[in-house]
Amino acid sequence: MMKQDMVCIACPMGCKMEVSTIENGKTSYNVSGNKCPRGEQYAVKEMTNPTRMITSTVRLKNGHLARLPVRTSDAIPKDKIFDCMKTLDEVQVSSPVKAGEVIIEKLMGLDINIIATRSM
Ligand code: SF4
Repeated sequence: MMKQDMVCIACPMGCKMEVSTIENGKTSYNVSGNKCPRGEQYAVKEMTNPTRMITSTVRLKNGHLARLPVRTSDAIPKDKIFDCMKTLDEVQVSSPVKAGEVIIEKLMGLDINIIATRSM
């Protein structure tokens, strides 16, 4: 049995949780410290397929600011964050851009888009 401490980030309460991994033919997880079921869901997902929403910026041409704020349309696998940031670093868009506009479709072949979060 392996134990891991983690903090739930599903709401601002930030419950401190302990996750025990139980190997009994197949892997299962025992979660404690969570104040609601979302904590358990978060902990199990974090152990099996950790993902994160990304908010960042891309270069903007002809705008009143040099960078356009963007975000992923959904959470991406944690191990793809570095490649995502590298991709965003190479992107430049031209003003005008509307909030909600897709800046990159199917980011790195995933079913996830990069979306503008501000009209500029
Ligand atoms: S376990 Fe529930 S109450 Fe605690 S941080 Fe997560 S979502 Fe919030």
